[in-house]
Amino acid sequence: MHITFEGGAQCVTGSQYLVETESARFLVECGLFQGRDDRDEINRRELSYDPASLDFIILTHAHLDHCGLVPRLYREGFRGSIYCTAATGDLVAVIWTDSASIQQEDARWELKRWKRRGEEGPEPPGPLYTSREAQGSLQLVVPCQYGTKYTLTGEVQVRFLDAGHILGSSSVELWIPENGKTRRVVFSGDLGRHGRPIIRDPQMPEPADVAILESTYGGRLHDPWDETLEKFLSVIRTTLERGGHVIIPAFALGRTQDVLYCLCDPERRHELPAAPIFADSPMALRATEVFRQHTEIFDEEIQEAIQRGDSPFDFPGLHYLRAMRDSLPLNDMEEPFIVLSASGMCTGGRIRHHLHHHLEHPKDTLLFVGYQAEDTLGRDIVDGAQEVELFGTVHPVLCDVVHLGGFSAHADQTGLVHWGEQVAGPTGQVFLVHGEDDSLRTLQGLLQDLLGDRVVVPAQGERDEV
Ligand SMILES: [Zn+2]
Repeated sequence: MHITFEGGAQCVTGSQYLVETESARFLVECGLFQGRDDRDEINRRELSYDPASLDFIILTHAHLDHCGLVPRLYREGFRGSIYCTAATGDLVAVIWTDSASIQQEDARWELKRWKRRGEEGPEPPGPLYTSREAQGSLQLVVPCQYGTKYTLTGEVQVRFLDAGHILGSSSVELWIPENGKTRRVVFSGDLGRHGRPIIRDPQMPEPADVAILESTYGGRLHDPWDETLEKFLSVIRTTLERGGHVIIPAFALGRTQDVLYCLCDPERRHELPAAPIFADSPMALRATEVFRQHTEIFDEEIQEAIQRGDSPFDFPGLHYLRAMRDSLPLNDMEEPFIVLSASGMCTGGRIRHHLHHHLEHPKDTLLFVGYQAEDTLGRDIVDGAQEVELFGTVHPVLCDVVHLGGFSAHADQTGLVHWGEQVAGPTGQVFLVHGEDDSLRTLQGLLQDLLGDRVVVPAQGERDEV
């Protein structure tokens, strides 16, 4: 059997692993590259295989960097099944539709610019995919239950375990027949943490022959959740008390719902000055709808709260803003408020309008609750940029800037080392993926102390016999 690291190797986006066995050929993960300047080129690169030749695709969860390339493969002839948990299936519908409309919008914009330049240079290539391919891909999705073994093409068996990362997220266990024996391969997907709001804790797979482990926070330990929540509430309280606005950049999927959870508890809300809360992102609204449909996979605490009538997604003072025009009045609103808006790293979306209007207000607070990747506006601000440019205006950053790392939906170093040690067992091999260089090296060092030379950091495009 061979595994080719098509993406997500030595970086944190574009996860994609090609598995070739004696009886089947398939992908685990099929994500977009994000953030980097050359991302478009990479997302359009020639693939090392023919998408039409794949038997199926398995998705671990619905984040764009793990599922966002699927419609491109559909466009190039892929018609196999796409296996994922039921909640992931519903969430990818939101993600692919949104991604397709962004691709189409960007392509229109590029074409306009090319025409304005007098049609110099090659004509822009058009969208990576459109809503047609997104819809086509959705027809191929086969929703699966957690904990059930499914037999796929070539007698390959799959089981999804809860990864505790976002709603519907999974680690994927595979049983692969080879030379009359069965080999076990496990993909961690993005691993979550114990005790996080709303979703259940991650489950630990049994030891495997081959483990593919994410490494996002291989070099870091997270603040405990309780401390994070306390700090989060205190930042909000201080800002509202001085009459300021709280601006929270948040991914529409996952982080927005976590933040709402922190604000939904009636007792907690009483401790804060009264102020409206705006969830300003149409995608957040659609993602929250999917959360509402999948309360069966929530953890016990939140199930009980919902039964009491305390839903984290509907509570007094919370307003969802769907259309852009609903968002505009916030720009002139003097009274204190809290607004959550995407994108989480301020690379696009309505959050940039809120920054445009609030960065220069010393009373306001820009509260980051998510990972800020290199080369993003969010990272620049967190790193202390004195001024930033938005919509052609240079703004000095005069508001308070706070970054809380403890919201992370990823396991930290301790969690990753524990997972690697457990799943490698006495003889298994571990491949470390989905990490920036420092994290990968640190995690590799720690795991090598436990497992010796069974720990590998594959390069982008590397094909290994396992
Ligand atoms: Zn993820």
